[in-house]
Amino acid sequence: METAIKNNAQQYVDDVFTKLKKKNAHQPEFLQAAEEIFLSLVPVFEKNPKYMEHNILDRLVEPDRIISFRVAWQDDQNQVQVNRGYRVQYNNVIGPYKGGLRFHPTVDESIMKFLAFEQIFKNALTGQAIGGGKGGSDFNPKGKSDAEIMRFCQAFMTELYRYIGPDVDVPAGDIGVGAREVGYMWGQYKRIRGAYEAGVLTGKKPGFGGSLARTEATGYGLIYFVEEMLREEKDSFLNKKVVVSGSGNVAIYAIEKAQHFGAHVVACSDSSGYIYDPEGIDLKLVKEIKEVRGERIKAYVNERPNATYSEGCENIWSIPCDIALPCATQNEIDGDQARLLIANGVHVVAEGANMPSNLDAINEFLNAGVFFGPGKAANAGGVAVSALEMAQNSGRTYWSFQEVDEKLHSIMKAIYKESSEAAKQHGFEGNLVIGSNIAGFIKVANGMLVEGVY
Ligand code: NDP
Repeated sequence: METAIKNNAQQYVDDVFTKLKKKNAHQPEFLQAAEEIFLSLVPVFEKNPKYMEHNILDRLVEPDRIISFRVAWQDDQNQVQVNRGYRVQYNNVIGPYKGGLRFHPTVDESIMKFLAFEQIFKNALTGQAIGGGKGGSDFNPKGKSDAEIMRFCQAFMTELYRYIGPDVDVPAGDIGVGAREVGYMWGQYKRIRGAYEAGVLTGKKPGFGGSLARTEATGYGLIYFVEEMLREEKDSFLNKKVVVSGSGNVAIYAIEKAQHFGAHVVACSDSSGYIYDPEGIDLKLVKEIKEVRGERIKAYVNERPNATYSEGCENIWSIPCDIALPCATQNEIDGDQARLLIANGVHVVAEGANMPSNLDAINEFLNAGVFFGPGKAANAGGVAVSALEMAQNSGRTYWSFQEVDEKLHSIMKAIYKESSEAAKQHGFEGNLVIGSNIAGFIKVANGMLVEGVY
């Protein structure tokens, strides 16, 4: 009997994935994200055949809807430019659709769907009342004037506004979308709606509906999560050598908190190359270069003579370290880079970015006994504080930095505990990939059972 269920569970997952591959053959990132989650779920179906009976996986993997729209805007030379905008509303069983907006030339339907699918599980893990979604555009903000950014954001929102709302779908920032862009979109939404619906967007500036600690939340949350991983092994950040990729929002605040806990962070990057500073990254200088001057990370070595700059970012993973924190973008660590990190003695890898390690890399880490923190658990701090921003907006109130930070800290601890326990209960102790996928899935699946099919 038990073997029959086992076969059924594997067969069920295989069948749904085969169908998915056929329907989405040209969406490699989406299929990669789906495969990673599907591989974790067989033990759940073995334990709870009712999820198979209600065909939960097949229902969950099809987005509620995908919206795509034209964004026409005028550049500084009065030329009309056209981009494509997206919003994927994936699943709202736990709360309104929630997930960031990405402005980057690589944005397409596959990227949007992979991010939105992962977001369902991540948001469920936070324990907050938020469903999963994601959006963005293939617009490239690099080199654009402030006025062009504003006009693009307004044009984008002029179309998007009809699909979102504080109880419907609540976008936020992601790559290429920070507080400035959120501010422009928020202003346009308010103008069109004629109402102050602060909870329609998160990542707003503090004082104008934004939450304190939202800027720091993903990076700090990542470090709180790794702190729990290290605690499990009776260890800490003190004197650990850390490599962080990226030098954007997530990377900067991960470096800040890791340094605060006594870690020795020696490298970071941007999309052009990486810097290595054996004396430890001067974060004040990185912030000055990236946040104030808007320069490339290369500029760092002009002011730190012992630091070196290398063109191209892949080789950042050749730097020996105890802890590696990929915080730039998807698929930045492949099998070769993972093997290099392992050969150099990496002990912990935790993902600040979404899907920065490909499946090959994840398998290498798990097989080598590297303690691996997957993005949907480790970087959930950003969206968790976004949900706290929604709560503050609903109550028309503001909480102090300390209050939000304390809530963030306890949410990250809880995510670690839940993921770790789910892994243990399903026979995969120490495997946080399986644990976080299962813990997130069960919450959403149970909600789908309650709702029924329509
Ligand atoms: P930012 O735009 O602030 O920073 C991104 C950083 O990654 C920059 O240093 C950028 O370099 C680098 N980068 C971007 N694309 C590439 C690429 N193709 N190759 C190499 N480097 C690249 O974004 P965030 O810090 O907000 O986001 C980083 C990652 O974290 C993303 O995967 C995002 O989805 C994820 N994330 C973000 C959250 C948030 O709250 N911000 C929440 C959860 C996850 P350059 O400056 O040269 O472009």
